[in-house]
Amino acid sequence: MNTNLVLYNTISRKKEPFEPLHPPFVGMYVCGPTVYSDVHLGNCRTFVSFDLIFRYLLHLGYKVRYVRNITDAGHLEGDQDEGDDKFAKKARLEKLEPMEIVQKYTLGFHEVLRLFNTLPPSIEPTATGHISEQIQMIQQILDNGYAYEVNGSVYFDVDKYIQSKNYTILTNRKLEDLLNNTRELGGQDEKRGRLDFALWIKAKPEHIMRWPSPWSIGFPGWHIECSAMSSKYLGAEFDIHGGGMDLAATHHTNEIAQSQACNHVQPAKYWMHTNMLTVNGARMSKSAGNGFLPQELFAGTHKLLHRGYSPMSVRFFMLQAHYRSTLDFSNEALEAAEKGYRRLMNALAVIPKLTVTENGEGDFDLSAFKERCYAAMNDDFNSPVLIAELFEAVRYINSVYDRKAQISATELEELKTLLQYFVADILGLIDDANASHDFENAMKLIIKLREEAKMNKDYATSDRIREALKDMGIQVMDSKDGSLWAKN
Ligand SMILES: [Zn+2]
Repeated sequence: MNTNLVLYNTISRKKEPFEPLHPPFVGMYVCGPTVYSDVHLGNCRTFVSFDLIFRYLLHLGYKVRYVRNITDAGHLEGDQDEGDDKFAKKARLEKLEPMEIVQKYTLGFHEVLRLFNTLPPSIEPTATGHISEQIQMIQQILDNGYAYEVNGSVYFDVDKYIQSKNYTILTNRKLEDLLNNTRELGGQDEKRGRLDFALWIKAKPEHIMRWPSPWSIGFPGWHIECSAMSSKYLGAEFDIHGGGMDLAATHHTNEIAQSQACNHVQPAKYWMHTNMLTVNGARMSKSAGNGFLPQELFAGTHKLLHRGYSPMSVRFFMLQAHYRSTLDFSNEALEAAEKGYRRLMNALAVIPKLTVTENGEGDFDLSAFKERCYAAMNDDFNSPVLIAELFEAVRYINSVYDRKAQISATELEELKTLLQYFVADILGLIDDANASHDFENAMKLIIKLREEAKMNKDYATSDRIREALKDMGIQVMDSKDGSLWAKN
């Protein structure tokens, strides 16, 4: 097992050697999506980043239990303790059961992550499947004196907590600043302190999702689910807790407080956070109109995009930036990434055609290359540096192919193994110049040829093409703007 891995720990604000609590086992918890709408591209970046981390830990030989939850209850508008439940609101809008919303967007989420070639987590628990665990944890926090009940709702007592613990340990913010940024308590507010947050919320009569508890018929606050599910599957203390950096200030800060108040331990040894996405330098957001969905990016249907990009070239694009750096989407950057991705895939495709030298050494120091690749990944999963190293190999492969450099049979085997490790196993990149892309291009050509035939009044040919396509289950529809086609 390679033990030179260092990773950046948000809680210590520095890179630390990775030393799991119980090697070779590693417990990793990543906050999953709230499944009331299509998954954002920003979320996808987080899950692709943790997929890289998961894959590398597996490659190093660790036995990883990767838990990524599905938030399907309790996440209110604006992450506040009051307001509409996101699921209930969407259910009303779409006239569906909340669980239909959950099912629809969970399937969509899985499909997008499958296209990005991410490995499924070991366990994907849902908040609604763990209500009793959340109730138990809330009860323990109450018993330990760190929460209070008001009118059937239970709140975490931050004032009590800060008497003995550092509430802002994760982000190192000043408590005064936090208080200044929090609104005054209103007359109707049940909370005692401005930083207090809900653990259990009594359901209003119109609230659809509701469960019985010792305090009221209600639903859990958003933060408690991750504390309850991570401790259930990984223990009170585990190795890695991750998520998008927007979760650190509130959600993860409250998770730490809940775990400390319940189990008297800091839950995770390493806290890892992925950075944001920007579009042409501005933060990606739905309200700014620059927040495109993964499907829009693949199909090129968003107004900011010149065309579509395959999921694998987008994955490559994401991995070209370090997970802690911002990643800026622009047509130019996506095009450059697609070219880079194709260059890498094309080099892998010529490997079987390379001629090996019978005797002697090749022109590429493979062991130094291998060392540099591992050094990049061991330095806080530095995929951009790894990719730059891989292009050294690409140049070498192309020179051997052009007979400008040499490679021995043993070296060729070694190179193949290393590329399998770093490109496929670790970066998770596969060649997606697949049938569907080729098929679309072939159809474009056929439709164009048929239109040309019609223009030349060669109706026999245009009809023959249409009939032949019909036999294959493809319908061609003529309109005044040209021909459209659809597969039955
Ligand atoms: Zn979480």
